[in-house]
Amino acid sequence: MTHPDTTAVHGGREDLAALGVHVPPIDLSSTYPVTDLGSGGGSYETLATGGRPEEESVSSLVYQRLWNPNVDRFEQALADLEHADEAVAFASGMAAFTASLIACVSAGTPHVVAVRPLYGGSDHLLATGMLGTEVTWADADGVAAAISARPQDTGLVVIETPANPSLDLVDIRAVVEAAGDVPVLVDNTFATPVLQQPLDLGAALSLHSATKYIGGHGDLMGGVIATGSAWASRLRQVRALTGGLLDPMAAYQLHRGLQTLPVRVRAQQESAQVLADWLAQHELVEEVRYPGLPGQSVPEGQMRGPGAMIAFRPRGGFDAAAELVTRCELITHAVSLGGVDTLIQHPASLTHRPVEASAKPGEDLLRLSVGLEGVADIRADLDRALHG
Ligand SMILES: *Cc1c(COP(=O)(O)O)cnc(C)c1O
Repeated sequence: MTHPDTTAVHGGREDLAALGVHVPPIDLSSTYPVTDLGSGGGSYETLATGGRPEEESVSSLVYQRLWNPNVDRFEQALADLEHADEAVAFASGMAAFTASLIACVSAGTPHVVAVRPLYGGSDHLLATGMLGTEVTWADADGVAAAISARPQDTGLVVIETPANPSLDLVDIRAVVEAAGDVPVLVDNTFATPVLQQPLDLGAALSLHSATKYIGGHGDLMGGVIATGSAWASRLRQVRALTGGLLDPMAAYQLHRGLQTLPVRVRAQQESAQVLADWLAQHELVEEVRYPGLPGQSVPEGQMRGPGAMIAFRPRGGFDAAAELVTRCELITHAVSLGGVDTLIQHPASLTHRPVEASAKPGEDLLRLSVGLEGVADIRADLDRALHG
């Protein structure tokens, strides 16, 4: 089997040499010529209901909301890395999550069982129920009971591992088993396909905020779901009808981002391990949460490495945390994560602000996304910020 690093570099590019080009041509067309009404109509019908252009009925791509070649190339490459049949890309991670929830509601299964913590936006969307979903919050151990309370209309189980922001770990295999026939969606943003393939562990859907590691440079928004063909078709239909599209330029950049994803993740992870070990010994740090530290064991066979996200609690509570972030100089005080530069933020005030009080992250918790700077420089900046 091809090494995943090779797939990252060459995925979705198999036809380039035959086209006589070295990088994918960018197709910005919003509309496409239609030869005659019969075949144009058939193309529209197929693409607007989740079909693909390889199908015989398709002679034109018709309209960018139905299909775009750069989005397709990115999706193919991502699907290969996730060991999925297909992938469907969206305007953002939240647009991707929205599409999966709309698919459940429109199938008559609006009940969602979700394990906290989740990304604050995902938590907020489920808590508002604004898409017509009804959520039951459960521990990983309580998933089976939550489903059996509503066996007729449970459409999805949602988990995130490692979870944003506290790096909680969920055993994907155990949740899949507890979920039985109900599909499990894993938010795989923190791990990336470099470290974790949820579909290999039985999950039905692996979701990414592509804004984060996949883009990797803090300069675009995108989302993607890797899944089987049946789900992919439903998600494409939702995308075509609701319009949460990935822009072709962003698709080009994400496709390029995949090429360096493995090396970026491994280098950032190496620095994160160094920083987590150092923080865990630091006199001004109360607690460090990082899958690569002793006592935070990852479910067996789930991850190939601990990743590059760290959560920690400085001594001195909220005030110490609030002061620390403003004292960082090299490290940027900002939300988002997964880019080449190191970011720090206070989840309870920012990304997880909308989460209800009982489930909100601790008021002294900070989240650190480790970048590609020299690790000694990141450490020095943190040390200065901790000492004040
Ligand atoms: C950022 C994030 C999202 C939301 O993605 P957007 O691209 O910001 O819409 C979802 N899940 C996780 C884990 C995230 O970090």
